[in-house]
Amino acid sequence: MEVEANLKVLQSKINEACAKANRSPNEIKVIAVTKYVSVARAVEAIEAGIEDIGENRLEGFLNKREAINKNVNWHFIGTLQSRKVKEIIENIDLIHSLDRLSLAKEINKRTEEIQPCLIQVNTSEESSKHGLSINEVIGFIKDLEPYEKIRVDGLMTMAPFTDDRDVIRECFQKLHSLRDEIKQLNLPHAPCHFLSMGMSNDYDIAIEEGATHIRVGTSLVGNEND
Ligand SMILES: *Cc1c(COP(=O)(O)O)cnc(C)c1O
Repeated sequence: MEVEANLKVLQSKINEACAKANRSPNEIKVIAVTKYVSVARAVEAIEAGIEDIGENRLEGFLNKREAINKNVNWHFIGTLQSRKVKEIIENIDLIHSLDRLSLAKEINKRTEEIQPCLIQVNTSEESSKHGLSINEVIGFIKDLEPYEKIRVDGLMTMAPFTDDRDVIRECFQKLHSLRDEIKQLNLPHAPCHFLSMGMSNDYDIAIEEGATHIRVGTSLVGNEND
């Protein structure tokens, strides 16, 4: 499988979704999610033009980051255990999964610089999904104020696992309007401009609904465990 060919297809689909939504493709950051693939495949993606790599587990993240000596942005997109923060915190460009104060406290303690974070929101209200419910998010962001190294750059969500595209779209719309509501609060620690939403099966809908970051694994780099 050719990552470069997949990236071309992805880019043309991004262009299509942007045209539909009257947006510029420059507004969309593609994060290659490499959790199912080798270092070699991740490097192939970078050589094809990918500038952002996402991993959802500590081990995978550390392995890739150590092995890949390239100038890319590193995204942590999975559940982060507080006791693991110190092993990983250096040099994460964006944490997509901040969802509790204990984690914020630990990040704040372990990092030397401002740490850009997204709040993970459970827009589908499925109990199996991580993240805060929509109505908890603003209170949570206000509670983050004392943690001076945490900066809330936006929100992240995962759509439910369903073929019903209207249900998926509704989740993305909810995240978008919540983001706008937070932006209007003008909180210095929460500029909240990013929307991380959309994966292999639904990134086109996410772009139509305002995504700034899409997290694409299987349809870009494949799955070497299959
Ligand atoms: C695995 C994963 C993705 C990518 O999923 P694909 O369906 O393979 O594109 C995106 N976001 C998160 C949080 C993930 O865990």
